[in-house]
Amino acid sequence: MIEGQVDDALLEARLLEVGKRLAGALPAGMRNPLKAADDKAMELASQDAELKAALFRFVDVVPACRSLDDLARHLTGFLGEVEEPPPPVAVAMRMGSSRAGRAALGAAAATGVKHMAHRFIVGESPKAALGTLRDLWRGGIASSVDLLGEATVTQGEAQRYAERCDDALVTISGAARDWPERPALERDGAGALPRANLSVKVSALTPLLRPDAPERGKRDAADRLRGLLRRARALGAHLHIDMESLDSRDAVLELVLELLAEPEFRDGPSAGMVLQAYLRDSPATLDTVLDWTAGAGAGRAHPLTVRLVKGAYWDHEIVEAAQHGWNAPVFDVKADSDRNFEQLTRRLLESRPALRVAIASHNLRSVAHAIAYDQLLGGDGRDIELQVLRGLGDPLGEAIAAQELRVRTYCPVGDLVAGMAYLVRRLLENTSNDSFLADQAKGVPLEELLAPPR
Ligand SMILES: Cc1cc2nc3c(=O)[nH]c(=O)nc-3n(C[C@H](O)[C@H](O)[C@H](O)COP(=O)(O)OP(=O)(O)OC[C@H]3O[C@@H](n4cnc5c(N)ncnc54)[C@H](O)[C@@H]3O)c2cc1C
Repeated sequence: MIEGQVDDALLEARLLEVGKRLAGALPAGMRNPLKAADDKAMELASQDAELKAALFRFVDVVPACRSLDDLARHLTGFLGEVEEPPPPVAVAMRMGSSRAGRAALGAAAATGVKHMAHRFIVGESPKAALGTLRDLWRGGIASSVDLLGEATVTQGEAQRYAERCDDALVTISGAARDWPERPALERDGAGALPRANLSVKVSALTPLLRPDAPERGKRDAADRLRGLLRRARALGAHLHIDMESLDSRDAVLELVLELLAEPEFRDGPSAGMVLQAYLRDSPATLDTVLDWTAGAGAGRAHPLTVRLVKGAYWDHEIVEAAQHGWNAPVFDVKADSDRNFEQLTRRLLESRPALRVAIASHNLRSVAHAIAYDQLLGGDGRDIELQVLRGLGDPLGEAIAAQELRVRTYCPVGDLVAGMAYLVRRLLENTSNDSFLADQAKGVPLEELLAPPR
C-alpha cells in the first residue's frame, strides 16, 4: 500500500467517477430506497414532526397490544394529538370511532407495522434467516447477523442473549459450510475472511453496564464475551462488537481491546469493533485503537476490523447532554459528521495492514469517497469492505457487489417485540431532515449528493 497524501482535486474527480458508476449500478426501480419501499408511514412522517412523534409512540406500544381493537384505540389516540392530520390520517381517525372500524384499522396498522419490520428484520431466529443469508451470499454479498434485544435488565436476560448468540454462531457456521465459493468475499490481503459473522451488543450481555460504575459491567460482560470469542474461534467465525450510546463507549472499547489482547485470543477469532464519526472525540478514539495495534494488540493472527459508522444515537446524545447541561459530545451540524467520517476513512485506510477497514454507510458520497481514496492509495478494492443495513442499504449493497467490491449486509434477526427499538431508531434516522436517504428520496440531483459536505 502506497502511503501519503492524495491530491484533493484528484480525489474529488475520482470520487465523482466512482459515485456515478455506483449510482448507475443501482438496481432499476430501486434508485430511491425510501420511495421504492412504498412506505407511506415514512413519507408522511418525514413531512410532519407532530405526526412523526405520534407514530413513534404508536410503534412503541404495538407489541404490548393484545387485540386489534386495542391497537386501533392506541393509533387513534396518538393520531388525535396531531392538530392538522393529513387526509389519510383523518380517515383513519374517523374509522376509529366505531368498533368495526377500529378492528379494521387495527388489522391494517398491525399489518403495516409488521410489513415495515420485515423490511429490516430477516427472520425471527438464525435458522429462519438462513435462506436470506445464503441468497445474499450467492449474489456476492456477505452478511453479519445481529440478534435483536438490547439494554438487558436482568442476569437471566443477559444469559439468554449470550446463549442465543452462541446458538447463532453454531447455526450460521454450520450452514455457511455449504455455501458456494465466493473468493472475493473469503480472502483479503491479510488472509482468510470468515463466512459466518455475528454482531453483538455489550449492553445485552450484562445488566450492569452503568456509566458511574463501568468496571462492574465490564467484568460481568467479559465472562460472557469470552465464551463467545472462544466459540467463534473454534468455529472459525467472526465476532463483531457493536458500539452503542456514549455512556457505554469507553467501557465497551476497553473491554474489547483488553479481551482481544489476552494470550488465549492471539490466534483468533477474527474480531472487530466500531468507531462513531459523529463523536467529536472519535479521532482520539482512533489514536487509542492504533496505539493498541502497535502495543498490546500487536501480532494477533487476525488484524482487528474497525467498522466506521456515523453513529445511530444522535438524538439520544443531544437530549442527554441538554438534560445534564453538558456540551453535546456529537457534532451538531451534519456536514461536520460527514467531514469527520471522511477524515477517519482516510486515516483508517492508511493504517492497513495493522487494521482491517469496514466502511458502513448508505451515503453515496461517503462510500464513493472511501472507494476512491483506496484506489488512489494504490488499492484494488480487496482490502476495504463496504457495509450496509438490511432494508435500507439493499440497492446500494447490490450496486457495490456489481462493481466486484466486497460488501456485507448487517442483518437483524429476532421477533417484532425485540425489534421495536431497532425499528424506531431506523425510522428516526431516515425521516430526519439530515439524512442522505431522505435527500435521495426527495430527488436531490446526483452531483449535489456527491458534492463535498457543507
Ligand atoms: C452495517 C452498519 C452497521 C452499523 N453499526 C452501528 C453501530 O454499531 N453503532 C452505531 O452507532 N451505528 C451503527 N450504524 C448506523 C450508522 O451509525 C448510521 O446511523 C447510519 O448508517 C446512517 O448514516 P449514513 O452514513 O448511512 O447516512 P447519512 O444520512 O449520511 O448520515 C446520517 C447520520 O449523520 C449523523 N447526523 C444526523 N444529523 C446530524 C446533525 N445535525 N449533526 C451531526 N451529525 C448528524 C447521524 O449519525 C446520522 O445517523 C451502522 C450502520 C451500518 C450501515
